[in-house]
Amino acid sequence: MQQDRVVIIGAGPAGLTAAYVLSKAGVQATVLEKDQTTGGLARTVNYKNYYFDIGGHRFFTKVKSVEDIWRELLDNHLLRRNRLSRIYYNKKFFYYPLRPLNALIGLGVWNSILVFFSYLIARLFPFKEEKNFEQWVSNRFGKRLFRIFFKTYTEKVWGLSCNEISAEWAGQRVKGLSLMTALKTAFLRNQRSYKEKKKVIKTLIEEFDYPKFGPGMMWKEMLDKIRGYGSRVLLGREVEGIRWAGNRVEALEVRQNGKMELFYGVNFISSMPLREALQKFKPEPPKEVMVAANDLKYRDFITVALIVRKPMVFPDTWIYIHEPEVKVGRIQNFKNWSPFMVPDPDKTCLGMEYFCFEGDSLWNRPDEELIELAKNELETLGLLNKKDVEEGTVVRMAKAYPIYDSTFQESLDTVHQFLSRFDNFQRIGRNGMHKYNNQDHSMLTGMLAAENILGANHDLSNVNVEQEYHEEITLAPSEQAALDTLLPTVFSRMDQLGMAIALGSVCGALIFLATLGLMIQGGVAKHYLQLLNQYFFGYGVTLKGAFIGLSYGFSWGFLFGWLFAYLRNFLMAYYIYRIKREAEMLTFRDFLDHF
Ligand SMILES: Cc1cc2nc3c(=O)[nH]c(=O)nc-3n(C[C@H](O)[C@H](O)[C@H](O)COP(=O)(O)OP(=O)(O)OC[C@H]3O[C@@H](n4cnc5c(N)ncnc54)[C@H](O)[C@@H]3O)c2cc1C
Repeated sequence: MQQDRVVIIGAGPAGLTAAYVLSKAGVQATVLEKDQTTGGLARTVNYKNYYFDIGGHRFFTKVKSVEDIWRELLDNHLLRRNRLSRIYYNKKFFYYPLRPLNALIGLGVWNSILVFFSYLIARLFPFKEEKNFEQWVSNRFGKRLFRIFFKTYTEKVWGLSCNEISAEWAGQRVKGLSLMTALKTAFLRNQRSYKEKKKVIKTLIEEFDYPKFGPGMMWKEMLDKIRGYGSRVLLGREVEGIRWAGNRVEALEVRQNGKMELFYGVNFISSMPLREALQKFKPEPPKEVMVAANDLKYRDFITVALIVRKPMVFPDTWIYIHEPEVKVGRIQNFKNWSPFMVPDPDKTCLGMEYFCFEGDSLWNRPDEELIELAKNELETLGLLNKKDVEEGTVVRMAKAYPIYDSTFQESLDTVHQFLSRFDNFQRIGRNGMHKYNNQDHSMLTGMLAAENILGANHDLSNVNVEQEYHEEITLAPSEQAALDTLLPTVFSRMDQLGMAIALGSVCGALIFLATLGLMIQGGVAKHYLQLLNQYFFGYGVTLKGAFIGLSYGFSWGFLFGWLFAYLRNFLMAYYIYRIKREAEMLTFRDFLDHF
């Protein structure tokens, strides 16, 4: 019986990275992949030398160790690309975040006025309780903007009506925003020069990295390196059974060309979908665990890649289709991701993306019908004449998105509780953890799982949990500590009564003491102070006048102090509200980018 040191399920970004880190450290690993290709959801398909991704994969990360691997493997094959991804609605293009002039021209004056009033109504009379996604978005943008820019696309992506999607699901990232982090970011941003600010915003919003021939380049490079270190990546091997006893996984039952094989191991890492993994456990886990595992759901995805006889169709890298009369949700323009993706400069390759459920009528349509549908929809949208389409191909990708519905968290907790008994079985990646991990997060979980086998003690569940800003600023620990002390003081509420009494007392005391002082001194100054009696009825440079001055001074000081504190609190609250809203919008955009 051969026993591998580490057996890894799946040669997607997570599984390959785990094998890469282990192999580099001198630990042999065996990767089992059911498909005949690597990269999983992040693969690049080569169709007659037209390269396309499942969705188009931006290379963007704040994880230094992941960035290092990208640079190490892709070296000078990483291109810096400009991002342009507009919304297509009513045969017009709209920027997101919305730009007022572009929206005004696109929607027309009358529609824009209605949008404005609908926004105003939403701000004045918001839904008190945000129960669903529709109410959540309407409260922030108004109902009309929600219908135009959110409803159709979201419903295409999830196959659910927006009022069936829970508000927490949409707000989960945004609600968790720390006000302190938002303030810190805004505060530090203000310290930057205008030029620096522009550069940062451009880098984070409008640009991303992308390999010359798509992400597949990286998986090919990684595969060669892993094999070069002596580890194995076995393609066409589907894990069909996970044998366990006590607190250990012992072996995997693997099918290859209809034959079954057993893979024994000391450590196991799995990036296969969590639901399927549990279904493959032998013996079967307790009933409540299986009920929870079967409750985990996924959204599936079809790309219809069309080769078009035109050098340019639209300048965007991808567009969101908000037209309700077509099924297509997004269109990728792979030539704009990288010009190397298309072999003939007079042609374009478009990826028509359809969101569906495995086994539904769209999923089951024959390829030729899907290609015809995609061609017809391009014409309906007015983007091109279907005669310009030379040919096409179809790729179906199951489990593209783990679904966060109202019960998933509870089910996930039950599954985790059961799996926590195993000390040699780690789950990594996107579907392996049932989490919206991008490829960088997926790679990071693979990396950390490998380090755990090498002796570290990382908690993988912490990856991709913290609320992040695209415009996050790194600080030295001393600066961080100083800001943590300073900001709560600067932004804390001013005590209105305290300020009023303090200013009142100072003003009253000043007049009282000045009057007494002048009384004692006598002279010309006495004459000027006397003028106060034009404002303070009954005032004079006398003992009685000093007391009258004291009470007037106190009253006016009190009033100004109170007003000052009130105004300052109001402006500060407004400033904080603006910062929080800006951060919310950025995070929400990031959230939408996940689909
Ligand atoms: C439409 C779309 C767009 C995306 N855009 C971006 C983007 O712009 N930037 C970004 O960083 N990320 C993006 N992502 C996310 C990225 O694709 C994933 O984070 C990443 O691919 C997850 O890697 P993984 O290894 O965890 O899982 P996967 O890529 O799903 O790999 C898992 C592997 O396990 C294999 N497997 C499953 N079951 C078995 C079995 N029983 N036996 C053997 N092998 C098995 C699968 O075949 C697969 O190869 C996007 C995802 C989608 C769907």
